[in-house]
Amino acid sequence: MTSSQHPTTAEELRGAGLRVTAARVALLETVRRGDHLGVDALAAGVRDRVGHISVQAVYDALHALTAAGLIRRIEPAGSPARFEGRVGDNHHHVVCRSCGAVADVDCEVGEAPCLTASDDHGFSIDEAEVIYWGQCPDCSTTRS
Ligand SMILES: [Zn+2]
Ligand SMILES: [Zn+2]
Ligand SMILES: [Zn+2]
Repeated sequence: MTSSQHPTTAEELRGAGLRVTAARVALLETVRRGDHLGVDALAAGVRDRVGHISVQAVYDALHALTAAGLIRRIEPAGSPARFEGRVGDNHHHVVCRSCGAVADVDCEVGEAPCLTASDDHGFSIDEAEVIYWGQCPDCSTTRS
C-alpha cells in the first residue's frame, strides 16, 4: 500500500505537528482503511494492533487527527460520529435512514461552498454541508 515516495504514517503525523505514538499511527491507518467507521469500531481496530487503549484516548486522538486535517469527521443528524481518511476534497455523503450506512458522493461542483446562499447575512460562507438521506439498496429491498 505504501510506496517509497510516500511519507510513512509516522512522518505524516510529524509533518502535521503531532506527537507520534503507536496508537495514533494505528488509529490513522484504521480510519483510512475503514469505510466511515464509528468510534467503537475504530477503538477495536486500534486495540487489535497496539493492545489496550481507552475509549477516551481514542476520542482524544481522533480530535487531534481531525484538528490537524488528517482525517475528517462526519456526523449525520441522529447518528454517532464517523471518521474517514478522505480529506482535501469537498465530497458529500449519502446516509441510509434505516441502517445508518454511509457512502461517499462526489460533489458536482468540487469546491466549497457548492451551494449559493440566497442571503449570506453578511457572513463569509466557506462551506455548505450536504447530506443526502434515503434507503440503501439492502434496506430498500428488504422493505419492498
Ligand atoms: Zn440501510
Ligand atoms: Zn466520505
Ligand atoms: Zn457539493
